[in-house]
Amino acid sequence: MTTQAPQDASPSRELLSDLFPGARLIVATNRAPFRLKTGVGGQPIWERPAGGVTAALDPLLRQTGGLWVAAEPGNPQELRVPPEDPSYDVAVLGIPKEVYRGYYTGYANSGLWPLCHNLVERAHFRSSDWVAYRQVNRQYAARIAAEARATDLVWVHDYQLALVPGYLRQFGYEGPIAVFWHIPWPPTVVLRLIPERKLLLQGLLEADWIGFQTQESVDAFLAAAKRDLGARSSRSSQGVTLHHQGHVTRLASVPISIDVQHVEDIARTEYTENLRQRLQRRWQIGPDQVLLLGVDRLDYTKGIPARLDGFARLLSRYPSLKGKVRFLQIAVPTRTEIQDYRRLAAAVRRRVAAINRSFGEPGWRPVRLIEHNLRLEQLVALYRLADVAVVSSLYDVLNLVAKEYVAARIEGGGSLCLSETAGAYQELRAAFPLSPLSSERIAESMARAIFASPAERRERMAALRDAVRRNTVETWLSRVLLGVRGSLDQLSGLKETPV
Ligand code: UDP
Repeated sequence: MTTQAPQDASPSRELLSDLFPGARLIVATNRAPFRLKTGVGGQPIWERPAGGVTAALDPLLRQTGGLWVAAEPGNPQELRVPPEDPSYDVAVLGIPKEVYRGYYTGYANSGLWPLCHNLVERAHFRSSDWVAYRQVNRQYAARIAAEARATDLVWVHDYQLALVPGYLRQFGYEGPIAVFWHIPWPPTVVLRLIPERKLLLQGLLEADWIGFQTQESVDAFLAAAKRDLGARSSRSSQGVTLHHQGHVTRLASVPISIDVQHVEDIARTEYTENLRQRLQRRWQIGPDQVLLLGVDRLDYTKGIPARLDGFARLLSRYPSLKGKVRFLQIAVPTRTEIQDYRRLAAAVRRRVAAINRSFGEPGWRPVRLIEHNLRLEQLVALYRLADVAVVSSLYDVLNLVAKEYVAARIEGGGSLCLSETAGAYQELRAAFPLSPLSSERIAESMARAIFASPAERRERMAALRDAVRRNTVETWLSRVLLGVRGSLDQLSGLKETPV
């Protein structure tokens, strides 16, 4: 569960009504921002799954109204949310269990996810999963097309829904479609391993605007569309545009961010400070102790095993740290239906046990592993407690945890060790960098953060805080809305130079 942002009128809400007068915003994501379950006594129980997209879009929809379409295995639900002040609609498509498995566990998470992260050997593509993926994407499009008017704005999110723009056009929807692709777009040599890549590209190119997290992804998508579909491109001061079968799509690199103000507000609350102090006492973290923290979904892209190996190396290399330094790893179970994820969880547990066995002493357990989801308020207390946050993703298109850690350090303390291959490193260059497949380099980065002078630590954190504040989730929303508008205006005659 996340606490939602305050309800003041936001610039993005005003921008939406200025740029798209009278438009209803229709958002499509895999997961719904709210779920309604029935308790044992028959009472309604509202669940609010956490996540970057929900944190970004729920506050906007609360202000503008609109429709959010998502999917779940089982029965459909039509909800008015939030329950305390209903202001927008959520349509949860009910998908038969087997079909959902093929679409979500199969095609999206055993195929596209590993492949887009360049982990080709983990990727599997099965024809039956593809059939399910198409079926679910069609169902989304049918639901949206039944309601959307040409003056609305449809905003489709991520790799689970690549075919929705194409199906929407087939159903006759002629209004604006934006897509945001939250994960990396792979290089063409990797993309070629997807049997259905042309159909995915065709589906996406029915959108008017596609946003990616990095310029690298934009370039890779451009190359793929040209190579696989023979699309043509043109450039203008506003970016790159693809022309394919009479349709025009603009591409943009717009890294997502967090609600910095919201995290800072949580950091200032008494609740957070009390929780921080309680945890400090419970874990007996004295003034000469150092707490390192990792917060991740238990995903193989996050580099958790190598990080733990790095911590073990740190302890071997610096015996003076024994008894003084501890690593807390929050590892949220995810996609446990997939064997690779279950194996990873077992490997992480084994490593934690081995480190504690080899290095631990009475009264000092070097690594603590927490395997469940925490609320943002709890995370912020941990961010404020930890002397060093360690983000060592192998390939992470952004990493919100790195930004949240920095935003939570309102007093300017703390240090961040950050993988050079995480997208967030592009903005957070003042972090202590690390190379995520080398446990020596990880240990080195941790040591640098621990032994840095207080002045260096403060200077780095100040620079990190400036960077995080420059690009908030509001900046992201505004850039998306302006990008979509620009792309639509281009249709009415903007001149560009063909490449
Ligand atoms: N998160 C959470 N509870 C947890 C661990 C993580 O709510 O116990 C949230 C965290 O605050 C962050 C998101 O999950 O907003 C993780 O985003 P990130 O970009 O770091 O990784 P992703 O999981 O999207 O790959």
